[in-house]
Amino acid sequence: MVVDFHTHIFPPQVRERREDYLRRDSAFAQMYGSPKAEIATAEELLASMERAEVDTSVVLGFAWSGQELCRQHNEYLLEAAARSGGRLVPFCVIQPHAGDDALAEIERCVRGGARGLGELRPESQGYSLDEGAGDILAEAAVRHDLILLFHVSEPVGHAYPGKGGLSLDAFYRFVSCHRALTVVGAHWAGGLPFYALMPEIGEALANVYVDTAATPFLYGSAVYRQVAELVGAERILFGSDYPLISQQRERPAIEGNLGEDEDGRRLILGENACRLLRLSDDRQG
Ligand SMILES: [Zn+2]
Repeated sequence: MVVDFHTHIFPPQVRERREDYLRRDSAFAQMYGSPKAEIATAEELLASMERAEVDTSVVLGFAWSGQELCRQHNEYLLEAAARSGGRLVPFCVIQPHAGDDALAEIERCVRGGARGLGELRPESQGYSLDEGAGDILAEAAVRHDLILLFHVSEPVGHAYPGKGGLSLDAFYRFVSCHRALTVVGAHWAGGLPFYALMPEIGEALANVYVDTAATPFLYGSAVYRQVAELVGAERILFGSDYPLISQQRERPAIEGNLGEDEDGRRLILGENACRLLRLSDDRQG
């Protein structure tokens, strides 16, 4: 079974009235201001999955700064997942500053089938994990058995729209304080696995997974094998960042860059995700 752990879909009205949304949210304007930044719907994702032979995708929305836009987007993800026959697994987003409204929204999303919260971008949404917001997310994750998926920024290297989201050191502090949580660091967790040779970091990464989202924009193809050596293939999740990267492009990149490591390939392409999402793996050949 092949699972893409990192895709983004939007309600059609966001694409149709893009200019309105660009005015309403500055982080959205930064990342989607260019007309070249694609916005895809659930139907387009399902068609892409068909072409790339991806069985299941985790669907992420956008970390809007306002709670009401988060709620509307969550609604679309939950509905799309409910219609998908299990092919789409929704993760939702909240604005922790919304207090009780945010907590109520998490409960509503869990009842609607959400398996996690993400893609969380604390710095774009104007909160810090070191304050109460980190505890709100951690407590919700424990209470509702949710996975937390964070965008993590590389502290060095080239700039790109949306690079800021969560700094590497803030992510590290959060995972080292909350070791019982299941946390996914998107985009190879901003490079944190490269520090796994430091014993305390290796230990703090025990429940941390990394996804491969947007790899072709960030790293050379040696990253797949080298991170598998550093933290183990059982910690890596295939994630495309669709529609930024096509699923048809990323899936063969993983298959082609792990050498003879057949077990690693199976773990990364689907087995790790099945375990985390508790999907039955009967479609696996
Ligand atoms: Zn991201």
